[in-house]
Amino acid sequence: MLRIILLGAPGVGKGTHAVELSKEFGLVHVSSGDIFRDAIKSGRSIGETLKGYMDKGELVPDRIVNEIIIDRLNRSDCEKGFILDGYPRTINQAKIFDNALQEMEQKIDMVLNLVADEKVIKFRLTGRRICRNCGGNFHIVNIPPKNDGICDYCSGELYQREDDKGGTISNRLTVYKEQTAELISYYREKGILKTINAEVDRLETYRDIVRLLRK
Ligand code: AMP
Repeated sequence: MLRIILLGAPGVGKGTHAVELSKEFGLVHVSSGDIFRDAIKSGRSIGETLKGYMDKGELVPDRIVNEIIIDRLNRSDCEKGFILDGYPRTINQAKIFDNALQEMEQKIDMVLNLVADEKVIKFRLTGRRICRNCGGNFHIVNIPPKNDGICDYCSGELYQREDDKGGTISNRLTVYKEQTAELISYYREKGILKTINAEVDRLETYRDIVRLLRK
C-alpha cells in the first residue's frame, strides 16, 4: 500500500502518470483539479466560487481546498492507498495536511517531484486535450487521439481546458513558482522527496517512477 504525492508545475504530466500509476499499483487517484471541475459540472453552489479562481489561473483558497481534499481522503476507498495530484499546492496546505495525516495515523511514503523545462511545459499545456466524458488525457502532437477530437477510450468529445489557453497559462506558471515550488524543499527536508526527469519521453519518465516505487 502506497501513499504518494505528485509535485510539479502544471502541464508537467502529473495527471497522465497518476492515471497509469493508480491502475498499476491499485491506488486511488485524487486530483484536486478534477474534483473541482466535477463540482463545477455538477452545478453545486461551491462550483461558482471554484470557477472564479480556476478560470483566472489563481489558487482556490486553502481553507476550501483542505476541507474538500481531506474529506475525500477520509473516504474508505483511500484505505488501499492514494496518489495525490495537485494537492498540496502551498506550504499552508502541506502543514494542514500533515496534521490531518497524523490524525488519520497515516504517512506519505514518497513525494515525486516531476521536473521539465518551462518551454516544454508550455507546449504540453497548449496542446493538451481532455475527454469531456471520461477525463482521458491527450496532446495534439505528443499523444494524438486516433481520430481528431475524439477520445480513444470512450469516443467522447475532446476539449481544451479554459485555463490551458493564452494568458492563464503564464499566470498558472507564475503561481506555481511563487506558491508551490517551495514545497520541494519542504518535502526534501522531510527526506521523502525524489526528483524525476519529466522532460524525456513519457514512457521513460513513467518507467523511472515505477522503478522508484518498486524499490
Ligand atoms: P490542475 O487541474 O491541477 O491544473 O488545477 C486546476 C486549477 O484548480 C488550478 O489552477 C487552481 O485554480 C485549482 N486548484 C487545484 N488544486 C489546487 C490546490 N491544491 N490549491 C489551490 N487551488 C487548486
